[in-house]
Amino acid sequence: MPTTSPKSQHVLVLNCGSSSLKFAIIDANDGHEIISGLAERLGADAPSIKYKYNGAKTVIELGANQAHAEAINTLVTLIKDHNLDEYLTAVGHRVVHGGEHFTKSVLIDDAVIEGITKASSLAPLHGHANLLGISSAQNSFTGLPQVAVFDTAFHQTMDEVAYLYALPYKLYTDYGVRRYGMHGTSHYYVAGQTAKLLNQPIEQSNFISAHLGNGCSVCAIKDGKSVDTSMGLTPLAGIVMGTRSGDIDPGLFNFLTTQLDYNAKQIDNLLNQESGLLGISELSNDCRTIEEAAVAGHKKAQLALDIFCYRLAKQIAAYMVPLQRLDALIFTGGIGENSDIIRANVIKQLGYLGLNCDEQANLNARFGTQGIISTSDKIPKAVVMPTNEEWVIALDAANIVKEL
Ligand code: AMP
Repeated sequence: MPTTSPKSQHVLVLNCGSSSLKFAIIDANDGHEIISGLAERLGADAPSIKYKYNGAKTVIELGANQAHAEAINTLVTLIKDHNLDEYLTAVGHRVVHGGEHFTKSVLIDDAVIEGITKASSLAPLHGHANLLGISSAQNSFTGLPQVAVFDTAFHQTMDEVAYLYALPYKLYTDYGVRRYGMHGTSHYYVAGQTAKLLNQPIEQSNFISAHLGNGCSVCAIKDGKSVDTSMGLTPLAGIVMGTRSGDIDPGLFNFLTTQLDYNAKQIDNLLNQESGLLGISELSNDCRTIEEAAVAGHKKAQLALDIFCYRLAKQIAAYMVPLQRLDALIFTGGIGENSDIIRANVIKQLGYLGLNCDEQANLNARFGTQGIISTSDKIPKAVVMPTNEEWVIALDAANIVKEL
């Protein structure tokens, strides 16, 4: 049974992707996960919900083509069957794009829905799924406050010098075309935790945070605030990712359309689904598979790793321009938290910044452990810090509900 007390503040955290729904009930007081799971292949042939509760893993098969609304209905039944609704105080939604309008988490009302709908034109796939999740949750959890937590919000402190593209200015003023950045909740969380680990005030901390998961981004954090980040108008920009290209020459669009007859949808698919580690290795988007293959002598797997690390190191070095002084380089996300190979490679390329790597500490930092992986007396430090976006969402939701 969950550890509930009258002080517990259980928040249902929902993270809707285009065909998936990640969920968890979290006690905002301590980040404890009471139940967590993932609904996959929503709207497709064989959708299912996998969840973990009390140490046991269960799979529920959904009917063919069932999507977000049905998954949330099943989730409601599940929550009620386990009597988990008793202490539920809010629903917290991860919303990918908040545009310029949302600089912090907000209680969802009609005006907020309108704002999210507007920002959705900048990230249609994610935005549509987020809105679906919100409306389904509103229908299923009537009376429970719903809070939106934006992936873009942390980056709203960037200066226009960092966020404007060198495009006709009117594209920004009339259509909002600019760098927004994503993974903000994660960069914010790991920066705060690293300041605690290093025992220094976050307001005086200069960090570069590398969130390396299936999606990857780097963030320059000056005096605790985001001053630049590698993702842009959409999550496609920046460093190499699992299946996304990151930055490319925009002239590629012309080449693909005029020489190879690609249309916009095919280009979007090429850059988002077929590129990155997968595109180069022609093997997998999964870093573990690539590392194993590289060790076994797979040349393109090794090349994919080399390009991934080189581009990441270059991006980190570039952020010394806005920061000037670096206190710590932070690794997080599935790759950042687990791959000693990638961490060691990147740190080695950045040796001239004063970064170095303690071999044993680097090997030890995995499976959710946090720690300093550089030799102890050196600044900047290299730090591994497990992210916990769900807890930030739960905390923000709980804090907003307290004010009601
Ligand atoms: P995320 O999106 O944060 O769940 O991260 C997913 C990525 O983390 C995938 O590319 C995984 O292969 C990678 N990953 C997870 N564990 C390891 C590991 N032990 N070594 C290398 N990569 C890992």
